[in-house]
Order: sequence, then structure tokens, then C-alpha cells
Amino acid sequence: ATPTAIMVGTGKGAEKGILIKGGESLEHIQAVQAVLLDKTGTITRGKPALTDVSLLAGEQEERVLRLIAEAELGSEHPLAAAIVEGVRARGIALGAIPEQFSALVGRGVEATIGGQQILVGTRTLLDELGISYQELADSMLAYEQQGKTTMLAAIDGRAVGIVAVADTIKAGSAEAIQSLQAQGLSVWMLTGDNRHTAACIARQVGIVPEQVLSEVHPEDKARQVKMLQEQGLVVAFVGDGINDAPALVQADAGIAMGTGTDIAIEAADITLVKGNLKSVATALELSRATMRIIK
Ligand code: ADP
Ligand code: MG
Repeated sequence: ATPTAIMVGTGKGAEKGILIKGGESLEHIQAVQAVLLDKTGTITRGKPALTDVSLLAGEQEERVLRLIAEAELGSEHPLAAAIVEGVRARGIALGAIPEQFSALVGRGVEATIGGQQILVGTRTLLDELGISYQELADSMLAYEQQGKTTMLAAIDGRAVGIVAVADTIKAGSAEAIQSLQAQGLSVWMLTGDNRHTAACIARQVGIVPEQVLSEVHPEDKARQVKMLQEQGLVVAFVGDGINDAPALVQADAGIAMGTGTDIAIEAADITLVKGNLKSVATALELSRATMRIIK
């Protein structure tokens, strides 16, 4: 690999909003056979909005929504921001700062407010605590089949309702995925979100069900990359979150969305300034063109 060709390639990339950290990354990316895409913030905009609230009969909507939003005040997750904003937009003022708060990675949040224990999160979270939510299961599934992310809420160990948020697919994601597949790459989606929501989003962007990995805990994202590498594949991982950093490091080519977190950008070999998946295909073309000059 001549340093000059690499320099030219890196310069061309920068012009197109593709920041490449070293000559090696530019060489690696043309060999990529499998591309793993994070869902939230990578395929989708990552700016969810609160769309639906469904409570058990007898629950007071204003009280429950206030407690849910107050519990989420301490979380930095985009889902938390969606809930807090959505509840405020419904004219509900938030007052209390929780006496106690904990973020449960990949599961939800837990807080104590006015002596009451509030939980907001996944089925797994409630299952682990032995809280049943059977009466809410059907409406939960219905929202998820529409591609929405749902979260269960429980007060003092009793499920009281669900909130659903919707994120939108970025313009260009479906096209970009199609173009990668047309180049012979196998494209996968990886997410911490539930399988119904994951399946709905995957269908809309043309990723086959067998290549959708859902309910993946943050610590397991890197393991999924490794699994494909152990099958002999050269793997690219594209992500934006703090959660994605270990997978970005593990991948042969770690690609961060420039619209994502600093931690993801630091962990990656390549940053897509525009935060659009179309740039992945452009980076591949650039890498191939550069390697052709080198050979
Ligand atoms: P992703 O890979 O989509 O960014 P995460 O691993 O961060 O997802 O979270 C997985 C799931 O855990 C979410 O889909 C959500 O159901 C739940 N969750 C995470 N953070 C929160 C939160 N602050 N409030 C409620 N639920 C949450
Ligand atoms: Mg993400």
C-alpha cells in the first residue's frame, strides 16, 4: 500500500464526509463481507416520540404519567427524553426529583418518588422481579407490530400500564441497505429493542428475519460481531451509541455515525459525518478504488 494512494483516498473521503482514521481502515473496509447495523440512531433517526399510553382500568393517567416521567428524568437514554417531553407536552408538570434513581442498562429505570417504587422498562425487567403484566401483553404486542417501542410501567410492584414511542427510519436507510446487498454483502440488524419492533423495522428496510438480532444486551453486541468473525467473515459494525463502542472496537471496520455519541466516534475507525448509511456504500467504493491504485 503506497502512502500516497492512501492519502489521496483519505482526502477524497473527507470531501464526502467520510473521516478515516488511518491507512489501515481504508484497506480493511474493501474486504468487508458482513455489515452489522445498530437499529436506533443508525437505521432510524434515534429521536423517538411518545405516541401511545395504555393504562389498566382504574389508573389515573395524569398521576401515572407524572411518576413515569419523573422516574425517567435521571436517564440519558433517548427513550427517556421521549417520555419526559411527551408527558410535558400533554400539559403535565413534573415536580418531584426522585429520592433514589438507578438506570438498569438495556432494561429500563427504577426510582423512588414520594415513597413509591416506580419501574419503567422491558418485559425482562418485570419478569426478573416477578411482576406480572398479562393484562397489558396484547396491547403491547399490537404497538410493537407497528414498529413502536413499548415500555411497561409498574408502581410498588404492580404493573399499571404501558407507554409506546415511535422512531422514524432515516431517509436513505432502505436504499443504502439495498445497495450493500446488491454488492454481495450480508446485512444484519442488531438491537436491544424487542423482537416485534425489530422485525417491523427490518421488514421496512429489507433486512431478512434471519439476520435480525434483537433483545441484545449492550455487553453482547461485541460478542455478536465476534461470532460472525469466527465464521470466517470480515465484519463491519455501524453504530452511534455508548453501547456500541465495544462492538465498534471488535469489528474489522468500526463505523460511527457522526450524529452519534463521542464515545462511539472515538471507538470507530471511520466516522460518517452526515450520519447516513448511504456513506457506507461510498466508503466501500472509495476503499476499492484506492486499493486498485495500490495494486
Ligand atoms: P438500543 O440498542 O435500541 O439502543 P438499549 O439496549 O439501550 O436499546 O435498551 C433496550 C431496551 O431497554 C429498550 O428498547 C427499552 O425497552 C429498555 N430501556 C432502556 N433504557 C430505558 C429507559 N431509560 N426507560 C425505559 N426503558 C428503557
Ligand atoms: Mg443506537
